[in-house]
Amino acid sequence: MKLLEERIRRDGKIREDGAVLKVDSFLNHQIDVGLYNEIGKEFFRLFADERVTKILTIEASGIGIACIAGQYFDVPVLFAKKSKSKNIDGGVYTARVESFTHGKVYDVMVAKEFLRPEDRVLIIDDFLANGAALDGLIQIVREAGAAVVGAGICIEKAFQSGGERIRAKGVRVEALARIKSMGEDGVEFC
Ligand code: 5GP
Repeated sequence: MKLLEERIRRDGKIREDGAVLKVDSFLNHQIDVGLYNEIGKEFFRLFADERVTKILTIEASGIGIACIAGQYFDVPVLFAKKSKSKNIDGGVYTARVESFTHGKVYDVMVAKEFLRPEDRVLIIDDFLANGAALDGLIQIVREAGAAVVGAGICIEKAFQSGGERIRAKGVRVEALARIKSMGEDGVEFC
């Protein structure tokens, strides 16, 4: 998606260690709603034929993007909650996710009542890096007996292993901007 690539080139900032792309000025702190709208529309174009019944994301950065996409698909948006609690209620599906950017491990959870075996779930997130977040969400959907129709990712860091690994498992992963490399000279897209 040219619009997103151009925005990343213009306003993205690469953290000193070269591992993290900061997109705080338009994607996940201050939000460019017009850009979110184009992203939501593009996810709809890509997955329109999949008979999506629900969108699943993870708090916090995925929620806004998922909501806009949800308007196009006209389906509810569900987000996995992050919790450090070990006391997990019986009424939830959980998965353990290691956060790439924060280096913490979270138990993420979704209430069982909101995911049904007949659901066809589109997973949406802002970034795909090592794939831990996506793995956790896929695990939750499958535990519910529902179908994962695919994952819509805004920015895939293709130099990390998540995308390749998850596609190899047969999950359709569509990323709107795929970064081949990033460093002092800026960002190079696939
Ligand atoms: P993964 O679980 O695939 O390793 O990482 C995905 C999650 O980590 C995303 O939900 C995102 O919030 C965060 N993340 C991973 N890499 C980056 C990055 O380069 N920049 C930002 N802003 N977040 C990232």
